[in-house]
Amino acid sequence: FQCKGYATAEGDKVAKFKGQKGSDGKYTVTLIEGDGIGPEIAQSVKDIYSAANVPIKWEPVDVTPTLKDGKTVIPDEAIDSVTRNYVALKGPLATPVGKGHVSLNLTLRRTFNLFANVRPCKSIAGYKTPYDNVNTVLIRENTEGEYSGIEHVVVDGVVQSIKLITREASERVLRFAFQYAQDVGKPKVRVVHKATIMKMSDGLFLNLARDIAKEYPNVEFDAEMLDNTCLKMVTDPIPYNDKVLVMPNLYGDILSDLCAGLIGGLGLTPSGNIGDECSIFEAVHGSAPDIAGKGLANPTALLLSSIMMLQHMGLTQNASSIEQAIFKTLAEGKALTGDLGGKAKTHEYADAIISNL
Ligand code: NAD
Repeated sequence: FQCKGYATAEGDKVAKFKGQKGSDGKYTVTLIEGDGIGPEIAQSVKDIYSAANVPIKWEPVDVTPTLKDGKTVIPDEAIDSVTRNYVALKGPLATPVGKGHVSLNLTLRRTFNLFANVRPCKSIAGYKTPYDNVNTVLIRENTEGEYSGIEHVVVDGVVQSIKLITREASERVLRFAFQYAQDVGKPKVRVVHKATIMKMSDGLFLNLARDIAKEYPNVEFDAEMLDNTCLKMVTDPIPYNDKVLVMPNLYGDILSDLCAGLIGGLGLTPSGNIGDECSIFEAVHGSAPDIAGKGLANPTALLLSSIMMLQHMGLTQNASSIEQAIFKTLAEGKALTGDLGGKAKTHEYADAIISNL
């Protein structure tokens, strides 16, 4: 089962791109370059897009947070830009550990109600890993679960974090997953859960999945425990190729890094945060402070996220020509970045992609 490239679902029921071309024939796309390696990898995307003549005008925005009534808020200009353009490409944003502002990534997902996080995990032809033909898709509920940010001290030495699961958010992401499977030609949807332990929260998610499965008679449905999925995926991921895996927030966060490990690491895995109005595309990885500013970062994950974005926008020709140039460059193996065992700098790898366009 070949998923059509890094397609995002664009069925009638989910996530239609509403943007319009300007009088210059170009779409405007909000660009959040991000922290750490963000500006370096964003530069590669900009260079490759201008060499490929993609009909896009970038609108860079600053998302440095401010506190308003004790809450982390993003500058109005950034919110206005994404709202106006319906789409953004985003570099990684660092989150302070333990204290300071809440995650800007979470704030963005909540602000724009980006309810589904689509994370394709696809082997790169020509790049050797223990498994050659991995091609599965994770869909992560993106707005609640353990990420709801509801935490408090009960008494000294005891804290409580709430895992919030609602019917509304669960149904939305589950329906999206079934629709996605149907659109990209995957015959099965599997819910990954821990309903044996989280009987009420994961139990609700699982029961709703059973109901929604009835709306999609052409898509097979089953369920699997998260720990079992981890074991089976690292043992043999190929049986997951015909499936779309859908799960509550935290499980998707963790399992997608496991999946990244199967295909060559975090430098290679893209994602799309999909909402009814706007969508924001970003790499799965973070700001990589250990290599930031050194020109060592691999821009592939952000580039593949931008390919998902182009497909979402209907710019499929541009998407496939850049995608092919990336795969050709990786298969040639001459200009690989350090994480893939090569010695190339970020810009040398980007130049090699440009020469393969
Ligand atoms: P990380 O993903 O930034 O880095 C993990 C490891 O992978 C590091 O060794 C890094 O060098 C390597 N790596 C990641 N991306 C790479 C790339 N493109 N090329 C080459 N190597 C790459 O994870 P972390 O160190 O745990 O997090 C750093 C910061 O990023 C934290 O503040 C975290 O909160 C944030 N973060 C942001 C996002 C996001 O913006 N969506 C996602 C994850 C983490």
